[in-house]
Amino acid sequence: MDADVIIIGSGAGGGTLARALAPTGLSILILERGDYLPREQPNWEAEAVFRNHRYHTDESWRDARGRPFRPVTGYHVGGNTKFYGAAILRRRLTDFAPRIHRDGETPGWPITYADLAPHYDTAERWYFAHGQAGADPTEPPRSQAFPYPPMAHEPYMARLAEALGQLGLNPFPLPLAVNRDALHPHTSACIRCATCDGFPCLVHAKGDAEICGIAPALAHANVRLLRNQRVIRLETSDDGGQIGRVCTEQASYTARIVVLAAGAIQSAALLLASANARAPRGLANRSGQVGRNYLCHINSACLAINPIRENPTVFQKTIGINDFYEHSGDPAYPYPLGHIQNLGKVTPSVLQAEHPHLPAGIVRWIAHHSVDWWLTTEDLPVPENRVTLDAQGAIRLSWNPRNLESHRRLCARWRGILHTLGYPLVFFQRMGIEATAHQAGTLVFGDNPEKSVLDPSCRAHDLANLYVADASFMPSISAVNPSLTVMANALRVAEHLKTRFAEGGLP
Ligand SMILES: Cc1cc2nc3c(=O)[nH]c(=O)nc-3n(C[C@H](O)[C@H](O)[C@H](O)COP(=O)(O)OP(=O)(O)OC[C@H]3O[C@@H](n4cnc5c(N)ncnc54)[C@H](O)[C@@H]3O)c2cc1C
Ligand code: SF4
Repeated sequence: MDADVIIIGSGAGGGTLARALAPTGLSILILERGDYLPREQPNWEAEAVFRNHRYHTDESWRDARGRPFRPVTGYHVGGNTKFYGAAILRRRLTDFAPRIHRDGETPGWPITYADLAPHYDTAERWYFAHGQAGADPTEPPRSQAFPYPPMAHEPYMARLAEALGQLGLNPFPLPLAVNRDALHPHTSACIRCATCDGFPCLVHAKGDAEICGIAPALAHANVRLLRNQRVIRLETSDDGGQIGRVCTEQASYTARIVVLAAGAIQSAALLLASANARAPRGLANRSGQVGRNYLCHINSACLAINPIRENPTVFQKTIGINDFYEHSGDPAYPYPLGHIQNLGKVTPSVLQAEHPHLPAGIVRWIAHHSVDWWLTTEDLPVPENRVTLDAQGAIRLSWNPRNLESHRRLCARWRGILHTLGYPLVFFQRMGIEATAHQAGTLVFGDNPEKSVLDPSCRAHDLANLYVADASFMPSISAVNPSLTVMANALRVAEHLKTRFAEGGLP
């Protein structure tokens, strides 16, 4: 055996799992497709990041109708958390039970909030969570305060939060994963820059999975990271009951336990690409569910413009709103609408990179007068939304999001509120299929092996030594950002593995 545990992927799930298992002394081998993301000036340049896609893959995937698109994702140590906006929220209590939406019902989870709560505590500690307990009326119960106080609003945002409160809403400080010491700002790692949301952090102050997962794991001599090792195939043992070999483009490796954490789309693609004579539809796919129930938040960016007042905020991503999370507030429409949070400040260079044809003067005026938001509605799981492979092995992503009417209403509601607050010009842009940032589903966990790929411990129903620790286990995505739940669940999987190793119940 090359290791006790092989972890495929070093993002939110894989990186957190590696850190959790590192102190056990088990030999751990992490196989990561990408390399360390270079620390260089373009980390913070909008044109490099958004226009030239310096850190994004140049792969071409196809949608359900065969149209090519370039996914906005990258392969690096730390995974997509290198770019994340670092908003780390817990799922709400209601997100674990079945819930009726306008366009259908989300399934309940085979675990409860209580099963994840202690792991949320640990994940918040490891990832520098800044927040304020009790400020968000939909927040689930917590046994302790946030590890760090909330990231303070800048004056313009503080006034806006106050105005939202005066309208009867409950704006709360958005929980954030950044290494900011409010008491010692001059020596703080985080400098509260405007290039956080969507950018890598040049000064390594973002609580991403490289900094908070992989780096602490590698401090243990029993953990190895092999970079630029893309796993292309998993081979099963002779009896087909477990993973025997993990094959990368360069070599192959064996381990007692294999944990797949390549991200929801790539993990499903890898299982499909590993089809063999015993498993012609792909590994772990007796149920036919591998790749199905792809979920991606219905997200819109929103720019609200006050023509007579400039917004001088630098670090803007500090307000969250969950007043429409559980219900719309309209008795005639008794469904949840979703979650609202700030975007990182849309600067002239970000706007110009996204809209190169707009005249520079207009871009500057808009960016200086806008306050920027991100609206999220829950996507609903349906089997037709799925990952498949074409004859050449390339990814085909079929995604027709469900719940668009609720999202339309969330945007309309927010537009009305922004008008009341003095923003007569409000623009929305809904994210398309290429925006795979909040991908989940595809290998869902559940009690029934006919309807799910993983059991409640996230072990494949069909393969005794294969676990999954990325976003693919989720049977429903909720309307809050997914990372903290991926991290907490990876910690839960780690606890399960520790017990299994301790009890000797291993293949
Ligand atoms: C721009 C942006 C902003 C975001 N903002 C937020 C936010 O504010 N809050 C939030 O909660 N979430 C946010 N997200 C989403 C968040 O990053 C993901 O939910 C999270 O990273 C998912 O974790 P994961 O472990 O499933 O996958 P990832 O973190 O993507 O990790 C997968 C890893 O597997 C590697 N890999 C893939 N294929 C292979 C292979 N074949 N062999 C070996 N390695 C492989 C990848 O290189 C990567 O390192 C954002 C994402 C983006 C892109
Ligand atoms: S310095 Fe702070 S605000 Fe800027 S990218 Fe890093 S973590 Fe984000």
